[in-house]
Amino acid sequence: MPAKGVEATAVRTSDDSHRDRVVVVGGGLVGRVTAWRAAQRGLSVTLVESDPARAASTVAAGMLTPATEAAFGEEPLMELGIRSARMYADFVAELEEASGLDVGHRATGTLLVAFDRDDLAVLTELHALQRRLGIAAERLTGRECRRLEPMLAPSVRGGVLAPDDHSVDPRRLLRALAAAGGRAGVTEVRGLVGEVLSPGPGGARLGVRLAGDAAAGQILPAHQVVLAAGCWGNGVAVPEPVVPPLRPVKGQLLRARVPDGEPPLVGRTVRGLVRGFPTYLVPRADGEVVIGATQEELGHDTSLTVGGLWQVLRDARELVPGVSELEVTETCVGLRPGSPDNEPLLGPTRVPGLHLAAGHFRHGVLLTPVTGEAMAGALTDGDLPEYARRFTARRASR
Ligand SMILES: Cc1cc2nc3c(=O)[nH]c(=O)nc-3n(C[C@H](O)[C@H](O)[C@H](O)COP(=O)(O)OP(=O)(O)OC[C@H]3O[C@@H](n4cnc5c(N)ncnc54)[C@H](O)[C@@H]3O)c2cc1C
Repeated sequence: MPAKGVEATAVRTSDDSHRDRVVVVGGGLVGRVTAWRAAQRGLSVTLVESDPARAASTVAAGMLTPATEAAFGEEPLMELGIRSARMYADFVAELEEASGLDVGHRATGTLLVAFDRDDLAVLTELHALQRRLGIAAERLTGRECRRLEPMLAPSVRGGVLAPDDHSVDPRRLLRALAAAGGRAGVTEVRGLVGEVLSPGPGGARLGVRLAGDAAAGQILPAHQVVLAAGCWGNGVAVPEPVVPPLRPVKGQLLRARVPDGEPPLVGRTVRGLVRGFPTYLVPRADGEVVIGATQEELGHDTSLTVGGLWQVLRDARELVPGVSELEVTETCVGLRPGSPDNEPLLGPTRVPGLHLAAGHFRHGVLLTPVTGEAMAGALTDGDLPEYARRFTARRASR
């Protein structure tokens, strides 16, 4: 029996019928923004998703923080992040209008603080890099940090205020992208893609074959296929080896909430370095606080460990002791999709019609608007826009 929605994409035989047909594999933020933007440009889009609960996009904290994530050697990635961050307000307005849903965008900035002297030295270097990249970032003393965020520990040594580093609720963003995609004509199929076929059936340039469930063997023909399967991208067989190793990078975090009637714990995203360990608290308007996160290279392991959660809580509590009073609502684990060089892989591969939208690693939420724009450009114009060419998926097979 075919999976839900498969009937809508039954095999056709004329080549023309596949000209504008795009199949997107993966319904995380990257796949969904690609599908929505492509449908807006008049392409006929089918999105295939096997198991939405496992997506990194449902775990992510939602920081949009190119300034406080700036790192030496990652300048081009930071520039892409800054471009995407600057697109966010308009992107959110358009998406909320198109979907009728609120995505929890908070334009409250981020405060990055240092716990000890060594952390402060790192922060001082980071501030120099931020200035070099032309990012708005104001250096503050410990006292000035506490004036902004009174719940910070007295031991906090100093900080940097990044007024343009905002946040969004990734779960709401996913729902809004699904709704906007549906309204723009994206068809959704629940199923696991096992293989990309070249050529596809009936003269189609490509096809994807479903595997592993009731729809196994079903083929969806396509003119173009976008592999947006997060860290599972290597699980899809492709006609040529154009997908580099995508490594899962495990992140454990907690969701908690301020008890009813209590004031917010922090007014903006607070990130910290605590004896060299990065930590963060991301507050939402409804009282939720996301506290994270570990970064572990353990393959596809998704166990929640006492050690991982303890590390997250230990560091968050050092920075903001009031964390102890929060009610824990959820513990989560997700797998960030890391590419070999930690930069995203976008656009056409050397297999005609096969695109990648993968490897967004720690920045997939931040990069959602720019990815949608770049991928829609690649699908309609045949290549990425100039600013995104450095991130071409073709570099993987050079
Ligand atoms: C703990 C944690 C915190 C994070 N915090 C942030 C943050 O604050 N800011 C930020 O910008 N980023 C953050 N990230 C990173 C961000 O979550 C990812 O970069 C982003 O979600 C990647 O999106 P994606 O769509 O590529 O992959 P995913 O969200 O993982 O989605 C991939 C989807 O593809 C589906 N799929 C896979 N294979 C197949 C197949 N064969 N057939 C059909 N479907 C398939 C999967 O089921 C999955 O739903 C965080 C990540 C983690 C884990």
